[in-house]
Amino acid sequence: MTEPGWKLSGDLENDRAPQLEITLESLSDFYGIDPPTLSRFEKPNSDLWQIDIFFDGRPTDKFVKELLDKAGLLQWHHTFGPVEDRDWVSESQKLLAPVQAGRFFVFGAHDADKADANLVNLQVDAGQAFGTGKHETTAACLALLDALGSDISPGKFLDLGTGSGVLALAANKLWPAASGTATDIDPIATDVAVENASINKVPIREFKPGIPGVAFKTADGLDDAELQSEAPYDVIIANILAGPLVAMASDIVAALAPGGVLILSGLLITQQSEVMQAYQDQGLQLIKSEESGEWSALQLTS
Ligand code: SAH
Repeated sequence: MTEPGWKLSGDLENDRAPQLEITLESLSDFYGIDPPTLSRFEKPNSDLWQIDIFFDGRPTDKFVKELLDKAGLLQWHHTFGPVEDRDWVSESQKLLAPVQAGRFFVFGAHDADKADANLVNLQVDAGQAFGTGKHETTAACLALLDALGSDISPGKFLDLGTGSGVLALAANKLWPAASGTATDIDPIATDVAVENASINKVPIREFKPGIPGVAFKTADGLDDAELQSEAPYDVIIANILAGPLVAMASDIVAALAPGGVLILSGLLITQQSEVMQAYQDQGLQLIKSEESGEWSALQLTS
């Protein structure tokens, strides 16, 4: 087992972030370690930015103290601890082989010659965003989407936690006339998803009503004016993790159209009842579940 990643997070005025970034780089240089990744994104309706620094393993207390001291942030209200979620990127890199789930065939560029004209082909390379299709959590969503297929024809869909964009791309291929939205808390993922959309000839649309294609946005959950302006969504797919899914239950259900379809993934079978309960409390009912290995994906409706 690899050591879990550690994350230091807090909110900061954006003009103070560069100092932190520079300090991080120079300290890492000094200690001869690879600089940890610092990501920042603007918090909606606020002057603050959320800063996340991801460490490969647990950094020493000395390093952290020195970092905060040199960046002038000794008084900074921050959190520091192991990253709850898996290392999505390295999980996805292990998963380079092409995969077929339902009518979808997901492959990396190196397997482009294996594309099958009878299937819906999606080229998604393992890179800085999670979602090559091979992971059980993704494959289960693809299978559920495939099964929905032409039974429904949603006007709007949302892929929450889009990673590589794979599920939004798949949904666009199923429902090309729909206005799709794909969002991720990680700005790198959003960029990768946009790139994958163009590789797969999925039209990238703006946030305007009624335009087919997929609009992309970096945001924390549904806490974003543009994501809200698109609601309600006829289909929402969220492959995140049990914890965030439970925490976001009321926001997600509020954004789902009456009679809409919700697909939840990223939960272990052992977490299924907890997640289901959170959504049943919001008035949803379970239509079916798709289990694969230790993972489970749920399809619910309002
Ligand atoms: N949808 C892809 C990727 C799933 S990985 C697939 O099915 O393969 C989960 C993604 O959720 C990661 O890219 C992570 O950055 C994102 N994520 C985690 N918390 C989030 C939040 N609060 N809001 C939006 N995205 C989130």
